[in-house]
Amino acid sequence: MAQAPRDPVDRIDPFDWIDEEARHRARAGLVRTLRPRGAASELLDLAGNDYLGLTRRPEVARAAADAALRWGAGATGSRLVTGSTRLHAELERELAAFCGFEAALVLSSGYAANLAAVTALAGRGALVVSDAANHASIVDGCRLARAETAVVPHADPDAVHKTLQAHPGRRALVVTDSVFSVDGDAAPLAGIAGACREAGAALLVDDAHGLGVLGDGGRGAPYAAGLAGAPGTVATVTLSKSLGSQGGAVLGPARVVEHLVNTARPFIFDTGLAPAAAAGALASLGVLRREPHLPARARAVATELHRRFTEAGLTAARPDAAVVSVRAPSPEAAVRWAADCRDAGLLVGCFRPPSVPDGVSRLRLTARADLTDRQVAAAAGTVLATAPPG
Ligand code: PMP
Repeated sequence: MAQAPRDPVDRIDPFDWIDEEARHRARAGLVRTLRPRGAASELLDLAGNDYLGLTRRPEVARAAADAALRWGAGATGSRLVTGSTRLHAELERELAAFCGFEAALVLSSGYAANLAAVTALAGRGALVVSDAANHASIVDGCRLARAETAVVPHADPDAVHKTLQAHPGRRALVVTDSVFSVDGDAAPLAGIAGACREAGAALLVDDAHGLGVLGDGGRGAPYAAGLAGAPGTVATVTLSKSLGSQGGAVLGPARVVEHLVNTARPFIFDTGLAPAAAAGALASLGVLRREPHLPARARAVATELHRRFTEAGLTAARPDAAVVSVRAPSPEAAVRWAADCRDAGLLVGCFRPPSVPDGVSRLRLTARADLTDRQVAAAAGTVLATAPPG
């Protein structure tokens, strides 16, 4: 019997191109995989961003659990409808007070906070001046804002100055990470803020890696630079690193926060932060106030790791906060190095293209305030023992 002709729709697989891309990735050794971790790993974790070791603190985890039992597992709606509880209001007051800003707005992630801040403060017709090494959420915020974006060389206040001077009278927003997430270096905030003041530009500092690590008692990089609460200065933070929870916030003048509440689409159209996450972050801020030595300990651990690496001949950028980055000779070597560390009981981050430019693949280690000196020495020993030649 003659076969019925196949429906042409059967022959066209609309996702063939995905397989083609996957083959390219595999050939380049750049496949990413999700690896579920255990609840209580035996591995020493220097890959996460729990800089102060607060995510497992009983008072933090319990505050989150109690809030879930009281308010529910989710926020139930947008912050403007049913998603705001008194926990959100309290967290906003406390974050603003702790970091030295007039007001704060809590969102469901640091990613959303950056999208909200950039889109609400820039927009069509504005100029955004963005550091070349800024976090992906800032890059995406610039795209979403549909503003003209001038990407300036990394950590270069003169470039910021020149760019702003080339656009006199233009509404401008300068955006920079405070601590760059891959190399762990700090932005020259004083110089950048000076360029902004001179040109009448607004400054947005993404303090994801500064809160809880830099500034008096962990009040963050803007606070350390004397910029907290300064007119024209706005900061974004995440609740998911030093504060051991989940979520993000924008900090700044009250009128800026009110503007965001009314115009920022990533705030308006997103379900509010889960009450448990708000309660966890609030509890962590309480720990930080009671234990102001924690940030200095995280920084000291980073400095010690860096000392051990560089003395042994590895190329590692001097850490300005809690991130320590070590060069690998190639993307493949970085992947193998991280896997060897894992086999030896140490979890480290591994950065390679497309997360970083070609030729600068590296391991990324995060210092934690709760590590003992013995654990720090063991972690450094593992990295050195598994280091690739060259
Ligand atoms: N900014 C920077 C510099 C970050 O490193 C991150 C997290 N990787 C974010 C923003 C996003 O924060 P969140 O994970 O809370 O979305």
